[in-house]
Amino acid sequence: MQKAVDSADAYVIEGKLALPYSYFAGRVGSTFITALRDSKQILGVRCDKCNKVFVPPRQTCERCMADLRENWVQLENTGEVVNFTVVRYSDKHLPRKTPYILAMIKLDGADTPLVHILDEVKIEDIKPGMRVEAVFSEKTTSTILDIDHFKPIA
Ligand SMILES: [Zn+2]
Repeated sequence: MQKAVDSADAYVIEGKLALPYSYFAGRVGSTFITALRDSKQILGVRCDKCNKVFVPPRQTCERCMADLRENWVQLENTGEVVNFTVVRYSDKHLPRKTPYILAMIKLDGADTPLVHILDEVKIEDIKPGMRVEAVFSEKTTSTILDIDHFKPIA
């Protein structure tokens, strides 16, 4: 990045600027988060044209561009691991202390995977196709972290 320099009509003050902000989840995202927060229900949307179920839900089908806003389906809290990775890079903005596991989890009844934390399992024991279930947080944050993590089904 090029460093700013003083000029005849402006001069530079070094400093940091904090930008706290709120993020609007959108109409579809808000319905998803509200159902998670208030009812511990995981919602997806089904495309009437291609029958694909998306979770997390989206407004438009990526295949047919159909509007999906009103075709809500309630999904199971269970699914299977598609693949996973181990997060080893530490950052204060991450939801967990590293190392932790992030997995792509295809919920039963969904056609697209949800990325979430997989816990209560050793890394060496994780296999694609492993059955898992959602563990909900005790306190809500009105975010996707109202699902605290997924764990293997015993
Ligand atoms: Zn479609």
